[in-house]
Order: sequence, then structure tokens, then C-alpha cells
Amino acid sequence: MSHLSGRYHEVIYRVQPANPETHLYEVELIIHGLPRAPLRFSLPAWIPGSYMIRDFARNLVRVGAADATGQSLALIKRDKQTWELVESLPSPKTPVHVRYQVFAWELSVRAAHLDTTHGYFNGPSLFLRVHGCDDRPCAIELVPPDGDDYSDWRVATSLNALNVSPAGFGTYAAADYLDLIDHPVEMGCFDRVSFEVRGVPHAMVISGRHWADEHRLASDLAQICEQHVLLFGELPIDRYLFLTTVAGEGYGGLEHRFSSSLLCSRDDLPKVGEQDPSEGYRRFLGLCSHEYFHLWNVKRIRPQALLEGGLDAEVHTRLLWAFEGITSYYDELALVRSGVIDTPAYLQLLAETITRVLRNPGRLVQTVAESSFDAWTKFYKQDENAPNAIVSYYGKGALVALALDLVIRRDTHGSRSLDDVMRALWERHGRTGVGVSERGVERLAAEVTGLDLGAFFGQALDSTDDLDLERLLSTVGIDMRLRPAKGPKDLGGWVATFDAPARDVDPPLSLAVRLKPGGPEVVIQNVLSGGAGERAGLAPGDVVIAVDGLRATAENFERLVAQGGLPKDASGPQQVRLHVFRRDELLELTAQPLPALADTCDLRLVETVSDDLARRRSTWLAGHA
Ligand code: ZN
Repeated sequence: MSHLSGRYHEVIYRVQPANPETHLYEVELIIHGLPRAPLRFSLPAWIPGSYMIRDFARNLVRVGAADATGQSLALIKRDKQTWELVESLPSPKTPVHVRYQVFAWELSVRAAHLDTTHGYFNGPSLFLRVHGCDDRPCAIELVPPDGDDYSDWRVATSLNALNVSPAGFGTYAAADYLDLIDHPVEMGCFDRVSFEVRGVPHAMVISGRHWADEHRLASDLAQICEQHVLLFGELPIDRYLFLTTVAGEGYGGLEHRFSSSLLCSRDDLPKVGEQDPSEGYRRFLGLCSHEYFHLWNVKRIRPQALLEGGLDAEVHTRLLWAFEGITSYYDELALVRSGVIDTPAYLQLLAETITRVLRNPGRLVQTVAESSFDAWTKFYKQDENAPNAIVSYYGKGALVALALDLVIRRDTHGSRSLDDVMRALWERHGRTGVGVSERGVERLAAEVTGLDLGAFFGQALDSTDDLDLERLLSTVGIDMRLRPAKGPKDLGGWVATFDAPARDVDPPLSLAVRLKPGGPEVVIQNVLSGGAGERAGLAPGDVVIAVDGLRATAENFERLVAQGGLPKDASGPQQVRLHVFRRDELLELTAQPLPALADTCDLRLVETVSDDLARRRSTWLAGHA
């Protein structure tokens, strides 16, 4: 035993990616000064921020225990994730060593990955919790892989360094178990882009091949982070790390108190010399903005239910509309408030969010509070029926936040906004660590604004009525119009002027089905409830090979359906014949395409506005008067 056997840390984790080609982390857990028997260890079933049972213990292999002399100690497995030491030890002072391997082959922000190019892990994948020791400080020793091939590997993590080499291997400290598992770790060869926000060191670590304009990244990120600090009024951290993994394709993020993990596509990063942010870069900045906002909203302002819940099983809360939805609202709003994107680009993003929500009939079935409560089994386990059955607490939640912000601004004549509610949440719950009760956000919003928001919240959170965004956006000088989609790539967006209403043209005809992306085969992914495809008997997984006897491809499918459904004479709508493979059986179906729904949102700035309206609009978009 080395310096790690010091008195200060009774729980020590030693982690070595000894042979990265095996994708196995070697972990040794050393416990000094045992809690009262029986000694139990377990791995979390889920990781904070991602509301799905993942059963990280399934990746543990060769779990064994020994005393300090190497004499093995018998363990018994109590359930899928819990082990117990059977024998009582000669003295409670005898340290126990638990050794195990963790198979790490999931390249996501939620788990662990290890190969010869890098190692990445989240604590819930690696660190057994010692029951009864949750509140004790612990030490983590990170050991580099064996062999010269890895001599250039370095470590990036927001863990507190106690005694580490210039490369970052060595000993780190955590205040308790929850702190221990809140700092993902990256090891390998990566780039590091540093910048400061209010004098606090920040960095983005980028792993994977890329050609990003690092100066641009640093400058844009600093502006976005500053915007969030302005909103909350203070920056409650002394360091922050964006851990980014770059891949050919990929998207994801997970928040932590002092860092976040991001996964993005190579093409999303800004290229040197690029002027306006590309669509992909805007999305990436939105992701960074989202995870950074979480360092206040959900990591420090926390729902009571999650504070009390533990990580062994599902924890239910109806508040994800606030913790994910409000965060989703501000992640994009901060882009325009910080000047990283302009107003049309922001309205583009907002119109796309509105369109996404309107296109799922599930918004008329599930409330956003129910969506939050059932995140574990519905939002995180989406099946073919998901668009018909659920609403996203991200998308709808962001629209509820927008509507709430605009209602407050309208009804307080601009003297209050959602920004004030967020500051109050920070002061009341973030600074103090007091959890937010299930109705806490609603109550605080009413208190801060002096408004009776009962009817608003009743409709927005507990009913499936659509929000009246058209009316609310008009109070800040934004016109909104809904129309049928013009094609599969039409997501709605910002427009300089609306198309003239086409009086004599009927809306396009549609089967209301969604195709699996990628083509060229026409594979039905979802059949939307109440649509012509459902009535015709189309089902998820069907492969449509012909429409009216013509070969169907992903590219021509919608056109064939629209044309085939047009009346060929005055006798009324025609039917289309579909040839479809269901599994390996050929079916012939008849469908009567219906007019496409007006589910696509366009937004534009009202051109001639009063001074008052202009001021309200600029205050909202700038974040200050
Ligand atoms: Zn989030």
C-alpha cells in the first residue's frame, strides 16, 4: 500500500485501464475502518440526468474480495447489483480489498468506453458504493495503462486533484459518493481549449479527430457561459470542463456540477474561416449551452424527489418539464442573447421546436407532467407508437417555458419575466440545497410575479391543450403561422414574409406516416393515429414497394401518394393502391390520402411595431432592458 493508505480516506478506488485492447477497466476498492456488518457494495441502476434503468452492474466481471494479506474473502450476490461480504473479519480495522473488472464498450455520455485510442468513464459504471459509507470522503487513484504505447496518455476530469503527475495520473479526492460519480474522466490524447468566465478557468477537451477552429469555440463558449452567469447573477464554481467526444455521427450530452460530457459529429464543429454558424455548429452550441445551464438548473436547483430518491431504482417526478424544458428554452435563447446567433437564426430554432411538438399526435394524449413522470418507461423507451402516445418534456417543456415567460412579461407590463423566477429558484433552492417540491416552481413563479398563474399551469402542465403561442408571440412582435409541410425536409422556420395564402390550392395529400430515415427503400417507421395510413392498414415495419403500380422509393413516395390521391375527374377523391411487404408476405392495400395537417410553423418579425412593442421584443431577445 502506498500513500493511499493515509488516514484521511477510508474508501479508496484504484482504476487502471491496464490493457485497453481488452476494453476492461481494472478496479480495486479498498475500505479501511469498516461500517457495521454486513458489508454491502452495489452499483447504481441509473446515472443522474438520464432517467432510464441501465443496470451498470451487468458490465462487472470477476468480482472478488480479499484481506490485506491477499487471503480471499467470500462474497455473496444479493441482487442484480449488490454484493455482500459473508465472513466477519478478525478486526474491523482490517482493510478489505474488492477487485473487479468493468467491460467498457459503450461510446455514449452515460457509460464507459475503453480502447487503444482512449478511455472514458462515468462513475456509476465503475465505482461500487459501499453501503453506510455514502457520506464519507473517498480517494481515486488513476493509473495509466501498462506499456510504452500509452506513454502520451493524459487525464481530463473535473475531479479535485490531490497528488497528480503533469499528465494528470495520480490521486484525486471526492467529498462523498455522489460527488465521486459526478465527474466523468477522459484519458488519452486530446486537445484542450481553455478560456475564462468571470475569472474562473473553463476548458473544452476534444477527443477524436477533428479540425475545429479552437479560437472560435473558446470565444463563442465564453459568451454563452457569460450569458447564463448574467441570468443567475453568480457563478457557483471554481472550474468547469466540457468533455467532448467527436465521432463521424453522434449527438448527446449529460450534465454534471463541474463539467459536462458531450458527443458530437465532426461536422458540427466550426471550421477555420467559417462565417455564420452552420446548422450543425448552432446545434452543438445549443448543446453546450444546455449542459452549462444545468449546472444551476437540476445540478444545484434540484427536485426534492431526486434528492431523496437514490440510484437503485426509478425515481418519479413531474418536474422534468422545468428541469429539462426550461433548460431547453434558455439554451437557445442564450445563443441570441449572447450575440452568437442573430434573431432570424433564433426564430428558426424556435419555429423548428414548435413544429416538432405539433407533429406528434401524442401531445393530445399525454400531458407534459405525465411525460416527466413516465420518462423511465416512455420517453426513454420509445417504440413505434411513441409519436402517438407521448409528448417530449424537452420540446413541450421548452414551449411551456416560452409561454410562461411571455405571459409574465405581458401581465406584469414587462416588470417581471421568467428570468426573475430562475433567479428566485437559485436563491431559494440552489444556494441553500433545499429541494424543489412537486409544485414548487409553480408556487415560486406566482410569488415572484404576483400573478395568479393557476389557470396557466393547469392548462400547460396538466392538460393536453395546445398552448396559444400565436397570441403570446404577438405580444413581443413575432408573427406565427401554421401551414402544411412542403416536403419531408420542411421543418418550418424563420421567414422574411409569409407566403401569400394560396386560396385555390388545396393542401397536399398525405398518408400521415413516417419513413425510416436513410432510404432508398420505403420502410414505414410510424403510422400516425387518425391518418390515412392507419385507416388503410399500414403498420410499422411495412416496406412499400409500389404506389399505384409504380415503384416507390423514399425519394418519390410522398409525390406518388399526393398525385395518386388527386381526383382524375369530377367524381371525387381517388384511392391509391399500395403494394407492401409485411415481413415476407406481399399485401395489397387501398388508401385514401387526406389533406396534410397544418403542423409546420413559420415565424417572422412584425415589420411595423409600436415603440412599446419594439422595446418588449428587444428586452426579451436581449435579456435586459
Ligand atoms: Zn438536459
